[in-house]
Amino acid sequence: DGTEPGKNKDGSGGGNNNNNPGSGKKVQPEVPATIADTESGRTYNRLRILGKGGFAKCFELRDTSTNVLFAGKVIPKTRVAKPAQREKIDREVALHRTLLHRHVVAFHHSFEDEQNIYIILENCNRKCLANIIRHRKTLTEPEVRYYLRQVTEGVRYLHRLGIVHRVATLTRWFISHISQCLANIIRHRKTLTEPEVRYYLRQVTEGVRYLHRLGIVHRDLKLGNFFLTENMDVKIGDFGLATNVEEGVELRRTICGTPNYIAPEVLQKKGHGFAADMWALGCAIYTMLTGKPPFETATLKDTYARILEVQYVMPVRLVTSSKALLRALLCKDPLQRLTLDGVIEHGFLTKEFVPTRLPPTACTVEPRFP
Ligand code: ADP
Repeated sequence: DGTEPGKNKDGSGGGNNNNNPGSGKKVQPEVPATIADTESGRTYNRLRILGKGGFAKCFELRDTSTNVLFAGKVIPKTRVAKPAQREKIDREVALHRTLLHRHVVAFHHSFEDEQNIYIILENCNRKCLANIIRHRKTLTEPEVRYYLRQVTEGVRYLHRLGIVHRVATLTRWFISHISQCLANIIRHRKTLTEPEVRYYLRQVTEGVRYLHRLGIVHRDLKLGNFFLTENMDVKIGDFGLATNVEEGVELRRTICGTPNYIAPEVLQKKGHGFAADMWALGCAIYTMLTGKPPFETATLKDTYARILEVQYVMPVRLVTSSKALLRALLCKDPLQRLTLDGVIEHGFLTKEFVPTRLPPTACTVEPRFP
């Protein structure tokens, strides 16, 4: 869906077992209920589906001998039949398997059988930050009090006249001037509070610092690639576009696949360095705080034009340090853009309240901070 993956719908694990003769369409073979790695002797039970990506379906897997849960990316070989596609997966695996950090999705193991390639990863069962934003549809308590005071006045007036409204639902409570109903407001409220964004950002920056110190540019930092574990720890995942710039391989120009939060210098084919990751971080922070990506328009062409002009709306209600951070990251010149150390030392993370932990309820409702 343009700037964030919105299609990770839960569903069943695939189609029929056989190709459908005569239809001409390839039916994907079903992922087996028990997956065996003949080389290591490990077997896994396939449990619920966690999400779908460009190539892969991702399932929760249980190692049958230890009962440990993993996330298993399953890539049908038919999907990566072209050498370039297969090479992309192999590159992703080769890079990801070298990584080990508290805020990077842990790589455990990979193998294949006749049908599929399997990548066994740390289980981030609370899914990704994009998913959380999609499900956050609440109002704060002071807001509810504000609305309720006015609603009760209206209801009192009606009751004094002997009138019972009978359908006192949120869709009937209109707000003057903006002629919106409360139900609508909740539907569209998909933002995180500033303290939450600081909590997530602190962990993301630690993961990115680890990658950058290894010379790795992720090239697709976005909410859909920030995964959450059971304990609400953030892990950076999906190394499909990542590359090691210090190895001197094609840092420049073409990259396979389109990053979501593409930086101006990348659009201008001036190369893709560490600063492009910082631009993407700026876009991700903006999206968390406002519910919308900064340069979103109806068409890719208009979006690219806005990126090149750095044309976005700065939300007025944010605190000063949030605005300053966004301005410093969404800076057209990659040399002038805030660096990773700049983010870590920024007032946003050093002068404001950063929660040390978030309750899992924050996945669906706004947390309260003392
Ligand atoms: P692709 O490379 O094919 O695009 P992704 O890496 O994006 O695949 O993974 C597809 C989906 O699987 C993700 O959007 C997410 O919902 C889920 N997923 C991937 N890795 C994990 C993980 N470690 N833990 C939980 N879910 C995951």
